[in-house]
Amino acid sequence: MKSRKIEVIKCKKCESENVVKAGFLEGNQRFKCKNCGCQFQPNRSKGKPENIKRLAILLYMCGLSMRTIAKITKTDLHAVYRWIRAFAEKNYEKPTPKSSEVVVELDEMWHYIKDKKTNVGFGRLIAAIPETEYLSV
Ligand SMILES: [Zn+2]
Repeated sequence: MKSRKIEVIKCKKCESENVVKAGFLEGNQRFKCKNCGCQFQPNRSKGKPENIKRLAILLYMCGLSMRTIAKITKTDLHAVYRWIRAFAEKNYEKPTPKSSEVVVELDEMWHYIKDKKTNVGFGRLIAAIPETEYLSV
């Protein structure tokens, strides 16, 4: 006697088995949960395969840019960013800054200097001279 495997369809949201068939989407059976009203397709794969995501993370750790990884894996730049971020959040602890350190962004400094009446020395004055003028001098 052949044993037949009976697949139990569960809701993806609430994991309820109280589901009914609700037509087809792109040739695949769609179900609707009678518990929460969620419509889903149980065997539909979402996103890139896991091995592609792992390859992307490995390439990123080797020093490739996210844009290059996106080209190699033929995916979206933001998807690569999400995979790397998810991996980092899962495997690494976010570094906490020491209380004695103060981080000031450059544009914040600019606003501070801009709003001051007198422009006091911060950094160096950098003047850009077009190449043609520079050569004629
Ligand atoms: Zn549900």
